[in-house]
Amino acid sequence: MKVNFYAIAAQYHDLKEQIDAAVLEVLDSGAYSLGKYHNLFEKQMAERQQSKYALAVNSGTDALRIIMDACGIGKGDEVITTAFTFVASTETIVQTGATPVFVDIDPITFMIDPAKIEAAITPKTKAILPIHLFGQMANMKAIMDLAAKHNLIVLEDAAQALDCHQNGVMAGNFGKAAGFSFYVTKNLGAIGDGGLITTNDDAIFEACKSIRVHGMGRERYYYDHVGYTSRLNELSAAVMSVKLSKLSDWNDNREKMGHIYLEELAGVKGIQLPETQEGNNNTFHQFCVLSEERDELQKFLQSKEVGCAIYYPVPLHFHQPYAHYGHGEGSLPITERVCRQILSLPIHPHLKEEEVRYVSACVREFATAGVS
Ligand SMILES: *Cc1c(COP(=O)(O)O)cnc(C)c1O
Repeated sequence: MKVNFYAIAAQYHDLKEQIDAAVLEVLDSGAYSLGKYHNLFEKQMAERQQSKYALAVNSGTDALRIIMDACGIGKGDEVITTAFTFVASTETIVQTGATPVFVDIDPITFMIDPAKIEAAITPKTKAILPIHLFGQMANMKAIMDLAAKHNLIVLEDAAQALDCHQNGVMAGNFGKAAGFSFYVTKNLGAIGDGGLITTNDDAIFEACKSIRVHGMGRERYYYDHVGYTSRLNELSAAVMSVKLSKLSDWNDNREKMGHIYLEELAGVKGIQLPETQEGNNNTFHQFCVLSEERDELQKFLQSKEVGCAIYYPVPLHFHQPYAHYGHGEGSLPITERVCRQILSLPIHPHLKEEEVRYVSACVREFATAGVS
């Protein structure tokens, strides 16, 4: 059996008629920039994430960059974060002129370990950037308590956390602002790139809204900030606005398949399974296992026509642009080990039960046979 890692176009096929109609409507209207669907999508998203404000932007990376600028993060500031993430989380900190300070991750959730934050705080620390990974949220209670104690800004990298909540509060409502991503492989995918900012702070909202379009103020061609060109493409807004009607069903399937994996793989020797933390839901953006024989397991699964992927193969402090921040090899032992051991199995809205059972049988076969 061949099992694909993704099924991107299947989302379109689920809603083909409505998406086609919305796309043609946009093309016909000529309202290609900040049009009807841009506004509608922002309204839908503010409601969905239960935030006072939602601003659609061109990518998750732009969302992070814009919220950092709006919060005045820049040269001389330190931002505490983790090196086990997609590069955008740290790239945007560096772009502002601030210094990323990496702390190690929790060995079960792979997200920032709150117990390690306090030792990294210095007089220069301005913010903490936790990254919600793989479909559940970082430990926000502990992070917010530390931030309050030390008077720090919290910004959420919620790129993978659409529809996530913790103790009844939706992702994007803990910190001062949050950045979401609609890159094609995320739980809600644009046609190309897309992102979203959420905030409950009036001043941050006004600043982000201005920075999104060149720092323009209320009056056209008058500038309050140095900004960017970062509107969400109207076609993507239209497509995602329609896709939202199915997102809960799609996430339900991810969750269902995730739980079948958990049953099928329970107790398999040498495999660490994902755990959902108390108070969190899990949208299973990825289903990641750990294995000391990860590379062999990946090769074995590929030989069985099972698509799999590694998020993330190399921690950020090992990459040339981020190597000089004082974190040498061995400085983040859990991050480094998880990068060597982690493997993502197929999980997507159109994955079928028999596919999950087949993938699981392959993993069990590998575990019982051992490495040849
Ligand atoms: C996808 C992602 C981003 C960046 O989003 P883009 O829309 O691709 O710019 C940032 N952080 C994390 C953790 C991500 O997974």
